Amino acid sequence: MDCTLCPVSCGADRDKTNGYCGVSGIKIAKYYLHPYEEPPISFKNGSGCVFFCGCSLKCVFCQNYELSRVQRGRDISVRELARIFRELEDMGADNINLVNPTHYVRHIAEAMQIYRPGIPVVYNSHGYEKISTLEIAEGFTDIYLPDLKFIDKALSARYTGREDYAAYALPAIERMARKPLKFDGSGKMLSGCIVRHLILPLAAYDSVNIVRFISTLPADTYFSLMSQYTPFGDISAFRELQRRITPREYNKVLAAVEEYGLKNVFLQDKTSADVNFIPDWDY
Ligand code: SF4
Repeated sequence: MDCTLCPVSCGADRDKTNGYCGVSGIKIAKYYLHPYEEPPISFKNGSGCVFFCGCSLKCVFCQNYELSRVQRGRDISVRELARIFRELEDMGADNINLVNPTHYVRHIAEAMQIYRPGIPVVYNSHGYEKISTLEIAEGFTDIYLPDLKFIDKALSARYTGREDYAAYALPAIERMARKPLKFDGSGKMLSGCIVRHLILPLAAYDSVNIVRFISTLPADTYFSLMSQYTPFGDISAFRELQRRITPREYNKVLAAVEEYGLKNVFLQDKTSADVNFIPDWDY
């Protein structure tokens, strides 16, 4: 079937060939209990992350470059994907966390028909989504964990080659933010939406625009502000990306968070900016 799952709509027959996203069938890099997502996601035992290979966005600064571009991983079947969901649940995962799932939503929906986990399912996406694809994801998703990377067209064109990133991401995130917010009695998230944003060097103005957009979403939407940008990936042609963000850039965005009155916010300790990224999360 010709694939049009993501906004690139390249039309590749993924049963036979790779799409623009770089993959054909299902390819995963790894799966394990991840302790360093936001606190109500990693919670006590860890988030049962499945890291999918390939990507339709191709950010030059990608911190998961080997998965998204180099695509180190192994091909698996829908049945094996279902088995992995069960294995992660048996290991005690607090949820199943689908990392970069957009180009696999049909396979994931099929796997969920074979085995639907009894724990929440997290849709952890770059935000570059078509509504028609989200409609498929809605059949199995409890928690949305999208990035909102850019609003400025020039920035998204420069770093991804896609100037239409925000044209897709903003309505997609508005839809994801409608998911009702629910926690269990001990603070584990069962349902809801957490929007992530990574502040980039020389782009704090766009981060401020993103904070302003978040303030227009339902008031209980969570915002996760990430300050750990580390030079990484295919950035030799981008001088401005070859440094971390400055305290001044970070403080400018933090001031906007206060100015726009965001209430549900996770802040990441800026000292966690390192290639061996181990984030500390703070409320
Ligand atoms: S998900 Fe991949 S194959 Fe499908 S339209 Fe997007 S880039 Fe093409």
